[in-house]
Amino acid sequence: MNFYDSDKMTDLLKPHGYQLDDNEDDADLIVLNTCHIREKAVEKTYSELGRIRDKINTRKANTGKKSIVAVAGCVAQAQGKEIMKRSPWVDIVVGPQSYQNLPELIAKVDPINKNKNISIDFPTIPKFDQLNATIEERGPSAFLTIQEGCDKFCTFCVVPYTRGAEYSRPLTSIIGEAKKLVDVGVKEITLLGQNVNAWSSKGLDNENWGLGKLIDELAKINELKFIRYTTSHPLDMDIELIKSHRDNKKLMPYLHLPVQSGADNVLKMMNRKHTSKQYLKIIEKVREYNPKIAISGDFIVGFPGETEKDHLSTLNLIKQVNYAQAYSFKYSKRPGTPGSVFLNHVNEDIKNSRLYEVQELLRSQQLSFNKKTINTTMKVLVLKKGKKKNQYIGRSPFNQSVYFSPYANNENLIGSFLDLNITEAFQNSLKGNIIPNF
Ligand code: SAH
Ligand code: SF4
Repeated sequence: MNFYDSDKMTDLLKPHGYQLDDNEDDADLIVLNTCHIREKAVEKTYSELGRIRDKINTRKANTGKKSIVAVAGCVAQAQGKEIMKRSPWVDIVVGPQSYQNLPELIAKVDPINKNKNISIDFPTIPKFDQLNATIEERGPSAFLTIQEGCDKFCTFCVVPYTRGAEYSRPLTSIIGEAKKLVDVGVKEITLLGQNVNAWSSKGLDNENWGLGKLIDELAKINELKFIRYTTSHPLDMDIELIKSHRDNKKLMPYLHLPVQSGADNVLKMMNRKHTSKQYLKIIEKVREYNPKIAISGDFIVGFPGETEKDHLSTLNLIKQVNYAQAYSFKYSKRPGTPGSVFLNHVNEDIKNSRLYEVQELLRSQQLSFNKKTINTTMKVLVLKKGKKKNQYIGRSPFNQSVYFSPYANNENLIGSFLDLNITEAFQNSLKGNIIPNF
């Protein structure tokens, strides 16, 4: 979602004379877009800010020019005043629900006295209405936020406090943005939301629509070929969406459905509102409708009170699901969340060894999923050139990176769909050959 927000900020600032620059050394404006989900991401914010201070001081010493520094995103939301106190060279702090105000905030920074601006309210006017800037360039694959915030309040998670209450963007606004994206050459859209499948809005028939119907509507856009969505919550996985995975050929066979733990008592303490059995049932249903679908998930190890037995339940659930890919994290204590004041925190060494075991198992499942694709043919969207000479990288329907070489050296394949025969499979990628299209 931060990638999406950063793109939006870029679009927003272009009419004000700004353009993207890879090099911070001579930038008039530096925007640091931040994440608050785990402690590590917050630490990174402060170390980045230290680096930025050195850059702007060097620039000022060499050229006399002052750069404007803005901190955006969820750390800005959660620690606005703290950032201004710890890093006085920061001029603007702007939360994820108010970055549409960025041009105004920049205009208000006084270059001599360096007035400070903090904008971290949750405004009543939905920000998307104010984010109508022209979209210029996105490449073949783009994100599109359709839902934001969360009302579920899992006891480990900061999202409800940083991104605010659950909000679904209206249908027409989403379709409008999807059309703008295909107009600039986008072929694949990933619909985004903290709980993307909680999306609901009045449909074209005035009935209440869920994500499945939205995807079916978007699939009518001719130039849009691949549709994905992330991240889903088990409680919001309805049958309409599951059916879309069988019936809608543009919807990719990939589902990221976090469960966090395989132990019901831990799920209860996490306030997940679902059991491991209910989760497994959903996976079974999804596979019934689309047996080939790649399943992904999220896991937290070492939640307060997690015992060895609970950890074994998580490993057991992973074995039952057999994931194509998944993310796993050590529990990170987040200030202001109920979990942070639980008394029975798990020792760091135990967390490390549990994370290792979970990741080892997930790694082996991912490798065997990838290996099963050898000698199959896949339609791949070519995304970019690889690091090696004469190499391209595409994305498979199952969300795997696929490396291949073109026939002719100077051919530009970015944005095209190719049928690739998979020849080799690794932990995180595949290798393939182009099947000639006579
Ligand atoms: N809404 C999604 C997840 C969004 S947050 C869901 O409920 O499934 C993305 C992921 O970050 C979570 O799935 C979780 O695995 C991880 N995460 C969130 N808070 C965390 C914390 N305090 N410590 C460790 N991982 C965390
Ligand atoms: Fe966070 Fe997801 Fe739980 Fe919401 S449902 S509180 S986003 S983990």
